[in-house]
Amino acid sequence: MRRFQLYDSLSRSTRLFVPITPPRVGLFVCGLTPYADAHIGHARTAVTFDVVARALRRWGYRVFYVQNVTNLDDHMIERGGQEGTEPLLLAERKFAAYRASMARLGVSSVDLYPFATDYVPEILAQTKALVEKGFAYPSDGSVYYEVAKFANYGKLSGQRREEQRPGTRVETEPGKRAPEDFVIWKAAHPGEPSWESPWGPGRPGWHIEDTAITLRLMGDRYDLHGGGLELKFPHHEGEIALAEATTGSAPLVNYWMHAGLLTLKGEKMAKSLGNVVGLEETLDRFGPDTLRFFYLNAHYRSPLDFEEGKSLEEAREAYGRLSLPLERIREELRTGGAAREGSELPEELSAEAEALPGRLDDALAIDFNTREAIALLFGWVSRLGELAPRWEELSGGALDALESPYRWAKQVLGLFADPEGGSDVDLSPLVEVALAARKRARARGDFAEADRIREELRAAGVLVEDEGERSRWRLAPAGDA
Ligand SMILES: [Zn+2]
Repeated sequence: MRRFQLYDSLSRSTRLFVPITPPRVGLFVCGLTPYADAHIGHARTAVTFDVVARALRRWGYRVFYVQNVTNLDDHMIERGGQEGTEPLLLAERKFAAYRASMARLGVSSVDLYPFATDYVPEILAQTKALVEKGFAYPSDGSVYYEVAKFANYGKLSGQRREEQRPGTRVETEPGKRAPEDFVIWKAAHPGEPSWESPWGPGRPGWHIEDTAITLRLMGDRYDLHGGGLELKFPHHEGEIALAEATTGSAPLVNYWMHAGLLTLKGEKMAKSLGNVVGLEETLDRFGPDTLRFFYLNAHYRSPLDFEEGKSLEEAREAYGRLSLPLERIREELRTGGAAREGSELPEELSAEAEALPGRLDDALAIDFNTREAIALLFGWVSRLGELAPRWEELSGGALDALESPYRWAKQVLGLFADPEGGSDVDLSPLVEVALAARKRARARGDFAEADRIREELRAAGVLVEDEGERSRWRLAPAGDA
């Protein structure tokens, strides 16, 4: 296992990462409240922790990555009412759409997406325990957590108790003893989804869902908790208070990671503010690689401002420069270069190619500096430019060496996947079979058949170009087939 450091928001310092039970790592990231379509702010957090999980796995850790789904809350009930849909069904639908978007975006690292309402027995048991221990009190069919009872409240966010005012998700309710107390079990209004409880029919509050899930799946303590910066307070502060009061064990989490906000003209992107850029439409316009590149070309903790008509256009242009040599390498490999006994790389360059994946790992091993990694990749592109290789003369081994930094980026950053519609499945043998049939058709003068094969390939997303006797092919860019 490679050693690495990360910035821990709880201690406010960069620390060496030491798992509780190596090589296992428990990673929990706050997921979606799927009452509306996902936007590119959600996707930034998802890509951030996707890269964390990918890097850890590359480095030999066995990561168990859980991302919860808050499938019932006030927004869900309100939106369901407006649309005439059961709130839980609305959540199912929006979550299915989210999963499809994540698959498009190459977010493939999450092991489990538990739904909050599947943990109601755990939530009720934890609520009862907190009432018995004196950390929570029932009131009008709801149960509240009494913040004043937890001495360490505020240790994550650094807010003193008297400064704490309810977050956006916590309504001011008459049954509370203090404004900062928060609901952990909420009395249901008639017609809302509800479960029986000792305090009457109700449903879970927000923060307790996460702790019920992690206490069940990861135990009293686990390694790494991630989420967007906006969740630090009150949500994550609430999780600490709930879990540590329940178990008497601290800390709940050894390392806290917070991803910076994605802003639009300097303002937080949020459904509640109405200034969102939809994820699906962005993927339609720019494709997954450009969007991932846009996120990863900034440090994950930095705020990232999105400018319509500028940010992704620039990202696409820069990413295009980064991928240009790879396209050449892949083309040579596809058209017989892999087995070629051509010229080798100059020794110096060959040594650089061999060392680069390690240097890329080094960049990520200091608080996941993807920006630095991308800078190293651009350095590689410049070196290739200086070399100005005669691609068609390079040996298979030389091509393979030139590709290796890109393979690192594909594995860890999730960039340079085959164009959309493709997959990790290697299509080359199948396309070569079709091209061989086309070549035979051309050889016997049956150009109608040759054109038909080309059209069928095009419909399947494969573009064929003839250069004299030789046919080259590539996958069509998104939306081009
Ligand atoms: Zn959460």
